[in-house]
Amino acid sequence: MVTRPLHKHIGCTEPICPFCSKALKKFPARKTKCPNCNNSIFVRTRPSDRNRVVLTEKDAIEIDRQWDVESKYNQIEREYFEVKEYYDSLQAAYVHNWGREPSHHDILWGVYNKQLMEHAQKLNWGLYRNTRFRMAQLLLQEGKHQAALETLIEVCYIDANGPRNLGVITDSALLIQFPPFDPKNTSQAPAVLSHIADLFDRLRLDEHRLRREFFSISSEVQKNLELPRSPEEAWQEVIHQLVLFGDTE
Ligand SMILES: [Zn+2]
Repeated sequence: MVTRPLHKHIGCTEPICPFCSKALKKFPARKTKCPNCNNSIFVRTRPSDRNRVVLTEKDAIEIDRQWDVESKYNQIEREYFEVKEYYDSLQAAYVHNWGREPSHHDILWGVYNKQLMEHAQKLNWGLYRNTRFRMAQLLLQEGKHQAALETLIEVCYIDANGPRNLGVITDSALLIQFPPFDPKNTSQAPAVLSHIADLFDRLRLDEHRLRREFFSISSEVQKNLELPRSPEEAWQEVIHQLVLFGDTE
């Protein structure tokens, strides 16, 4: 089901200029200029066999792309083994109901939804928030930018409320002492904020639109999860940390 990506071998493991094929004095540690033809020689580790190679800039870009594919695969593989049993049963159920093979994303979506319910039942709101973030990443991979933005805003708003993992605590007196959300422990994650900033550009939003989206999503989440902080307070925190108009280099 999850197949390891195959990468073409690119570049040369020997210290030889990829442009003029002259031997270099030694294998370069990093990007250098060929003393013979003066072209820029790049150095990378290639994912196909983990060897260091010298290559042209064009091939170096291709290696970087191979690494992106590789890391995505590793993430998928890791998640697959975490949830293997449920994943497989869900896959079989989809085949039965739909009469066709579901995509990896379809199955993961089902896995995540089940996790959300479990985390909510156990009052593990930190884990709940992590699963919502994974769902946002899945939407990004699928190119569903608007849905990804809405999910990221939800994650931001939950973060602003200081989600905690209570797990076994069910005693109502203890719950007063250890509330499921603690706004004193609020923190915004750079990974979430930078995705939002990217989507802000991609979807050609302005601050006014983003604010509107934030309020409409947060109000809904506040109602459903009974969160202590108002959307207004959370927005003030988020907007101060969001770099929407970065300096253009
Ligand atoms: Zn050369």
